[in-house]
Amino acid sequence: MINDNWFEEKSYFEQVKMGWKIKEVLHTEQSKYQRIDVVKTEAIGNLLLLDGKTMVSEHDEFVYHEVMAHIPYAVSRNCKRVLIIGGGDGGVVREFTRHPDIEQIDLVEIDQRVIEVSKKYFPECTIGLSDKRVNILPKDGLAFIKEKKDFYDIIIIDSTDPEDFASGLFTQEFYSDVYQALTSEGIMMNQTENPFYDQYGIKKIYRNMQDIFPIVQSFNAPMSIYPGVFWTFGFSSKRYRATDIFSQKRLHMDEISRNLKWYNMDWHKGAFQISNFHKKMTGL
Ligand code: SAM
Repeated sequence: MINDNWFEEKSYFEQVKMGWKIKEVLHTEQSKYQRIDVVKTEAIGNLLLLDGKTMVSEHDEFVYHEVMAHIPYAVSRNCKRVLIIGGGDGGVVREFTRHPDIEQIDLVEIDQRVIEVSKKYFPECTIGLSDKRVNILPKDGLAFIKEKKDFYDIIIIDSTDPEDFASGLFTQEFYSDVYQALTSEGIMMNQTENPFYDQYGIKKIYRNMQDIFPIVQSFNAPMSIYPGVFWTFGFSSKRYRATDIFSQKRLHMDEISRNLKWYNMDWHKGAFQISNFHKKMTGL
């Protein structure tokens, strides 16, 4: 909700509120799928809101986008084709374009208006969309995934919360379709919400993943714009564990890490040593 010169987001059954002082409302529209707002804030730069929920800020987008891309890439032994479902702000695509051996990056975003608005107000995020390896597909990820078999080496689910047209992206049926679309050593990464304000039942989401994938692990990274800040992510894999970084990639990962704001291999290896609370809330 935007009033006076504040944006306030209510979350967790409207029992929690976060707010940012704003300089200017830059954009407001109702797309075919959701309300899209962009506000310029005093503290965190431009802030993208979808249906009144914080999605991306200039201030801290790097955390989410770097961990989502570089963790699975560092483990993958042969990463040629990547699929991102959601991710219309372009940040995860940008991170994958740092790796020259990737041949194809498909972005399946249901709402093209999110991409167009992000190009205008978050150019740093969308900088990778012009890479010749990137294909932007305006489709529903739930339907698209059923078209692919044994095709992608990494699949990223960079979606909104488990509501409305995104709710199916957290189900066992969808994870089974993702499993089929992945190659024999494929990896799926997804954002799995905040266990302190567990509105969506994180344990059930992880059980859906564990019903399909032989390896399911979890880590957390701070997202200052999300309710509760403590954000969890899932690493689901057919063969390699999350800290099994491919030895032949270590030099390359070291080199690109010098230009990253969050990710490095030391952090990667430590991230999966999770707390009792994190284990309890995910059932891992
Ligand atoms: N949380 C991310 C971050 O921190 O950078 C941003 C999320 S990204 C903007 C979420 C996107 O998922 C939205 O643009 C939304 O339109 C898209 N989405 C939701 N459900 C989808 C579906 N079923 N298929 C494709 N895209 C979907």
